[in-house]
Amino acid sequence: MKRVLLFGGSFDPIHHGHLIVARAAAEAIDADRVVLIPSAAPPHKQNASLAPAAVRVELCRAAVAGDPLFDVNDWETRQTGPNYTLLTVRHFRDVLPRRSEICWLVGMDSLVELHTWYHARELADACTLVTVGRPGVEPPDRQTLESFLTREQADRVLAHIVQSPLIEISATDIRARVAGGRSIRYLVPDAVAAVIKNRNLYRTL
Ligand code: ATP
Repeated sequence: MKRVLLFGGSFDPIHHGHLIVARAAAEAIDADRVVLIPSAAPPHKQNASLAPAAVRVELCRAAVAGDPLFDVNDWETRQTGPNYTLLTVRHFRDVLPRRSEICWLVGMDSLVELHTWYHARELADACTLVTVGRPGVEPPDRQTLESFLTREQADRVLAHIVQSPLIEISATDIRARVAGGRSIRYLVPDAVAAVIKNRNLYRTL
C-alpha cells in the first residue's frame, strides 16, 4: 500500500527543521510523497498575525522546488471555515487513490496538544498520526493519551513516534532574527531567504 505523508503547518516561514524532519519521517515510514499543506488561519494560532497564505504557499514552493519527494498543496488556504485537520484529511481521502494510507506528520509540541484538536478521536482513526521529536518536548505518557483517545488509538500514536534528527529551529526564532537584522542563513533554504528578502517579510514582529 502506498503511504502519503501530509504535513500541515503555518510555515511562517518554512525552515530546515520542517524539511529535515519531514524527509526523515518519510524514510522511517516508507512514504513516497510528502505534501506540505500551509494553513489559512490555524485554529491554534488565531490571534497571531501571519504572513498572507499565498506568501506562505510561495515560501513552501520555493523551499522544495525540484525535490520529487515534496508537493505543496494550497487546499487549506482556499477554505473559508477553520482549517481543522480532520476536514483536510477527509478531503485528501476523497482525492487520493483508495488504496493509499494517509499519514499526518506532527512535531512533538503539536502531539502534546492533540487533546485540543477538533475531534481528536475521529482524526486518530481517519489517518495515521506520525510524530517527530522536537528539542525540549517530552512525549506524552500513555495515561495522558488514554484520557482522550481509546487504548488502541494511544498505542498506534505511540508506535508512530519515529526517529529523526532533533533540530532546534523555529519559525518564531527566524521571524525574530529577520526583525532584528540577524542572519537566517542555513536556517532556511536560500530560495526561502530570497523570498523573505524580496518581499520584505518579518521586518517587524
Ligand atoms: P512557530 O515558531 O511560528 O510556532 P514552527 O516553527 O513551530 O512555528 P509550524 O509551521 O507551526 O512551525 O509547525 C508545523 C509543524 O511542524 C508542527 O507540527 C510542528 O510541531 C512541526 N515542527 C516545526 N518545527 C519543527 C522542528 N524544528 N522539529 C520538529 N518538528 C517541527
